[in-house]
Amino acid sequence: MESLILDIVNGKQINKNEALKLFDLEIEDLCLAASKIRKQYKINKVKVCSIINAKSGQCSEDCKFCTQSSFNKTDVKVYPSLDTEKIKDVSEKALENVGCFGIVSSGNSLNDNEIDKLCECLNNTRNHLILEYQ
Ligand code: SF4
Repeated sequence: MESLILDIVNGKQINKNEALKLFDLEIEDLCLAASKIRKQYKINKVKVCSIINAKSGQCSEDCKFCTQSSFNKTDVKVYPSLDTEKIKDVSEKALENVGCFGIVSSGNSLNDNEIDKLCECLNNTRNHLILEYQ
């Protein structure tokens, strides 16, 4: 396994089977390997990013790790979509001060109204915009 890590550090593009072998590592060894790779490619630089949770809680999905799932008992704040002005205000401040900003939301999808609202919010930040949907 050490040679695989060394290959990655030296720039080799690993294939799927090699990547799956990484699952065989103990977690401490995996962290150590990840640290070696990070040091090679990123040194100690970090990229700072800011997010806003545009809609919080009451998600119908049952993801065990998530505080926003309605199946989990948590103290998370629950609220429907934030208003457009709030998101615009926070995004402008974040882009001015941090340079990177993301809007996240509870749930596995947005409805048409929420998408329209989001588009309106993003309209004035389009020069900085990178859209990712997961
Ligand atoms: S908000 Fe996302 S991660 Fe959390 S329970 Fe819903 S779908 Fe899962």
